[in-house]
Amino acid sequence: TDAESEPTVEARERHAELARELDEHQYRYYVLQSPAVDDSVYDAQMRELEALEAQFPALVTPDSPSQRVGGTFSTEFAAVDHRERMLSLDNALNEPALEAWAERIERDAGSQPRYLCELKIDGLALNLTYEKGRLTRAATRGDGRTGEDITLNARTIREIPEQLAGDNVPELLEVRGEVFFTLEGFQEVNAAQVAAGERPFANPRNAASGSLRQKDPHITAVRPMRMLVHGFGAREGFNPASQSEAYELMHAWGLPTSERYRVCADLAGVRAYIAEYGEKRHKLEHEIDGVVVKVDQMSIQRRLGSTSKAPRWAIAFKYPPEEAMTKLIGIEVNV
Ligand code: NAD
Repeated sequence: TDAESEPTVEARERHAELARELDEHQYRYYVLQSPAVDDSVYDAQMRELEALEAQFPALVTPDSPSQRVGGTFSTEFAAVDHRERMLSLDNALNEPALEAWAERIERDAGSQPRYLCELKIDGLALNLTYEKGRLTRAATRGDGRTGEDITLNARTIREIPEQLAGDNVPELLEVRGEVFFTLEGFQEVNAAQVAAGERPFANPRNAASGSLRQKDPHITAVRPMRMLVHGFGAREGFNPASQSEAYELMHAWGLPTSERYRVCADLAGVRAYIAEYGEKRHKLEHEIDGVVVKVDQMSIQRRLGSTSKAPRWAIAFKYPPEEAMTKLIGIEVNV
């Protein structure tokens, strides 16, 4: 009955407490770039919040951390609204969760979609706006609707073209991608930090976020950052039939797309890709924290749509974090 689904006082209080803590963690992580807790702690709190909301749907409000793209923007930069929202990704932390996602997709799509697999690079999401082929703005994700204008900094990244090549460039295109450091670049930048008497960055993601969100573009310019495109937002005169076709077109215009994506006919192909990069991940030139699986066909993507936080047609399969593995092995050894 309705009475039974009314949240208990304890549930309400715990929910409010978790929401407050998650907000605080997000602020420290995205704005101050100085997280107070490990990602695993943050993820566990988010899962507890989501479990409470599943039990008591009345706790789900639009401002709950479960319903928002985590992240916000700093007032140190001009705020810019994205033409189309930048979303986060839902996670699958193990194979059964991935299978459950694929089952739902295949049921809702009404047919077997193709799956595009690519690497999940742990960097900073960037939105590049091209008007008539010319780069007019670069912005961080922020809260998904409003980001920070970091155009001057982005212009210092060699891989980001100022002008798209070719005579068939779209009227308008929001290009989304990840800015990141290779492991070598990360070492280089941290060596420079130490030499300058500054604190080294905790990880490549932190380094990318800190370097791109610099007040002085000259500092950004000397840091060896890379970018890889993994999507697009608003567009005019750009109507690819699939995600993979979009990548081919963007590649032809000179945008940095990855050579490592793969289109699979079914989930078996996806599993093989995940297994393959599970082995190769430590031999790559950059860190990855998982594999992103996307429905390839745009028609099916449109049909599936998005939640307030993430597209339903994509999922991030996360490899177990290194520290957790070490801890796990540590426990086994001690037992
Ligand atoms: P996310 O990093 O798990 O996934 C979404 C992002 O992945 C996208 O915005 C995009 O930039 C990126 N991405 C990389 N490769 C991609 C690809 N091939 N295709 C599409 N997108 C790709 O989600 P998030 O919302 O950015 O961050 C949430 C995570 O951040 C949490 O799981 C948590 O671990 C961490 N976090 C930690 C704290 C803390 O206090 N420790 C606080 C907030 C968030």
